Amino acid sequence: MSRRSAAEAPSTPDPNRVRDLRAALLNHYDRTARDLPWRGESDPYRIWVSEVMLQQTRVDTVLRYYEAWLKRFPDLDSLAEAEVDDVLMVWEGLGYYRRARNLHAGAQVVRETFDGDVPSDYARLRELPGLGEYAAGAVASIAFGEAVPAVDGNVRRVFARLFDVAEPSARWLRETGAVLVDPVRPGDWNQALMDLGSTICSPRAPRCDACPVEEWCAARTVGTQHERPARKVRKAAPTAFFATPVVVRADGRALLVRRPDSGLLAGMWSFPTVEVDGDGRVSDSDVGGGTGGSGGTGGSGESGRAGGSWRASGGPPRGGGARPSEEQLVRVSAEAAGALLALLGEQEVALPVRVLPPVRHKFSHLDATYFPVVFAAAGERWVGAAGRVGDGRVEGGHVEDGEGGRVEDGHVEGGGGEASGQVAQGVPTTDVGLRTSEATTESGPVTRPDVRWVDLSDPGVALPVAQQKIARSAADSDPAGAVDGAGPVRASAADGSPRGGAIQMTIPMENC
Ligand code: SF4
Repeated sequence: MSRRSAAEAPSTPDPNRVRDLRAALLNHYDRTARDLPWRGESDPYRIWVSEVMLQQTRVDTVLRYYEAWLKRFPDLDSLAEAEVDDVLMVWEGLGYYRRARNLHAGAQVVRETFDGDVPSDYARLRELPGLGEYAAGAVASIAFGEAVPAVDGNVRRVFARLFDVAEPSARWLRETGAVLVDPVRPGDWNQALMDLGSTICSPRAPRCDACPVEEWCAARTVGTQHERPARKVRKAAPTAFFATPVVVRADGRALLVRRPDSGLLAGMWSFPTVEVDGDGRVSDSDVGGGTGGSGGTGGSGESGRAGGSWRASGGPPRGGGARPSEEQLVRVSAEAAGALLALLGEQEVALPVRVLPPVRHKFSHLDATYFPVVFAAAGERWVGAAGRVGDGRVEGGHVEDGEGGRVEDGHVEGGGGEASGQVAQGVPTTDVGLRTSEATTESGPVTRPDVRWVDLSDPGVALPVAQQKIARSAADSDPAGAVDGAGPVRASAADGSPRGGAIQMTIPMENC
């Protein structure tokens, strides 16, 4: 095992030395293996769950979720029969929610395609949703004793150092793993490698003096262990800004929408979000929003036009370095809140009452900042908030018995007539991308938007981490009090009532 540069093609390990290396590592594992709840487990379903949870997630974190998961879904049948919302609830906070969806879908595939038995070989395990090379190798070797490798990030680092390879290719890793895997104890071997990578051969401070395979380590011999594998230069994730209306009813419940089935946080419940660029315009960088949303022109909220999207995730240039002003964000949020209320046929007034602190969340591919604005949805008509965003301006939502207002220069103006009208026409013009469900009513099949009014302190649905923060922040705020003047955004009707009449919204410029 000699030193190799990035330019040289690394060879596979010397088989004559492999036997001793295996014995040394397995001996160490037998003496020091961590006592983890999935260790010694023979149920392939439970091993599968642990391996999926361990992807991208620290052991300490998984320990908190693993037991709770098995309490709720103790076997494959209970998972296969569960509603996906229940699955996501138990997963809430663990992140990378696609893993939970794949587990759920995988359990159903096992029931339908494999007679309820988890496939016992690597090739068929790969047929299950979400089981890639690593997870399938781990389950096949640990649960079924198949001599296949399981190369995760920790194992990649160990291999790169053992053989002093700067940039190990996927093919080399696969071949090296296949040569090294212990034919008698493949599951223990794979777990021993993972343990070595996470406890001794750590990324920045490998403890070579305590390493059971130091004798075989090429990088240690030549002193390159800190440079192996070569670090990838990561590009900064693009930034994105999201206007986020938090529409709260008089009973304290807030409006959530279900996101489309593709794109950022696919299928999750969240507050409505509209991506805004640095100039305050609704962003054109729609990538992940997906279609199939239901818009509509008010009324029952059951019929609607297809297509459109809340702007969701995507790639550069996104928001760039500039950040939209608070005024711009409130403006877009107001439009979106009104559009949603119209979509739902809610004959309500939506007033911006409080700007909450921004919530930043770094996804692996996107640096997102949400700007929540609380609206009080309480009344019989809607003034001002509806309409179309054009050149940064929200223009007239239409109310049956009076024109909705216009937001300009920090004011919502207009809106008149009686307070009994229906939201009827002209809204929403912002594309609304949220999931829809089919339902049957007396008048025939209808398409309903997937929305919920939830208790902010206990939404009863799984919320992504950033959305949980927004919910907590909104629950701690006092929108009712803010209508009368507290808070950075003041909203009041010209007649002093939050309902009906002309609405004027003043946004202090120091907050912009
Ligand atoms: S000797 Fe050091 S660099 Fe080599 S495998 Fe062990 S801990 Fe890692």
